[in-house]
Amino acid sequence: SIPLGYFGGIGLASKTGILFKGGNFLDVMTQVKTVVMDKTGTLTKGVFKVKEVVAIGIEKDRLIKIAAAIEKYSTHPIAKAVTEYAHDGYEDLKADNIEEVAGHGLKGLIDGKDVLAGNVKLLKKFNIPYPKEVEQIVDTIVVLSIDKEYVGYITIADEIKEDAQKAISDLHRMGIKTIMLSGDKQTVVDQVARTLGIDEAYGSLLPDGKVERVEALRSSIDKLAFVGDGINDAPVIALADVGIAMGGLGSDATIETADVVIQNDQPTKIAAAIRIGKITRHIVW
Ligand code: ADP
Ligand code: MG
Repeated sequence: SIPLGYFGGIGLASKTGILFKGGNFLDVMTQVKTVVMDKTGTLTKGVFKVKEVVAIGIEKDRLIKIAAAIEKYSTHPIAKAVTEYAHDGYEDLKADNIEEVAGHGLKGLIDGKDVLAGNVKLLKKFNIPYPKEVEQIVDTIVVLSIDKEYVGYITIADEIKEDAQKAISDLHRMGIKTIMLSGDKQTVVDQVARTLGIDEAYGSLLPDGKVERVEALRSSIDKLAFVGDGINDAPVIALADVGIAMGGLGSDATIETADVVIQNDQPTKIAAAIRIGKITRHIVW
């Protein structure tokens, strides 16, 4: 039977928007020594906005139209930024054979032309030459090629959540180590980590790369929590001692797999969940 105190703990947590899917996770939460977090949607708002369009040998409007016509087929927050920026001026372009290349972007035919839209890794993968300077851009970018020719890029920006800084300092004050994992570029990841004071940060990770990192971290004795939102985060959430999902931004698969769901997406709720676990422990034992 579940000790009565656990019901109290679960109830207390749910009042603050933290859903525990079982009393045992309240207990595991108190033993967590490392919190591993995804960046986009977990520590940042996950709402990207187009900042700049650089078109090479093509009209800017045309570049945006083609980019939106292909990004329409992705649910990634980056894709949403591009289609929103283009409004609805791209609907007349014909799209065929669109494929999402996980952790890279998209490939397909737009108006019968071979289009790639994604990160630099995507262009490398398909042997499309691009100017060296593109690799020096600090921001998140969507690079484009048409019929195997580089045609420019779109700069995209996300914002750090209002309570992200407090979320990290709360965890540090509890003696918990913080690690950030992201598929985004290392330069962007480093910038966010520096701003928030995160202990360790790893970027350019493919979905499998996140799993490998967490597997390696888990081989140490300490209990580990992982917090994420995207479809790509579901396997890592399943692997963690405590898997936490952002409930508002989170994909269905992520929320379903999670042991704990933070309903309003506030990262400060991570430390709050640990605190509630500790309070409950006092009641139970
Ligand atoms: P994350 O959620 O941490 O950004 P993802 O694996 O979803 O991780 O994405 C990794 C990277 O792949 C993104 O940062 C982006 O550079 C690129 N990418 C993924 N999907 C798209 C897309 N639809 N359009 C452009 N780039 C994309
Ligand atoms: Mg994410």
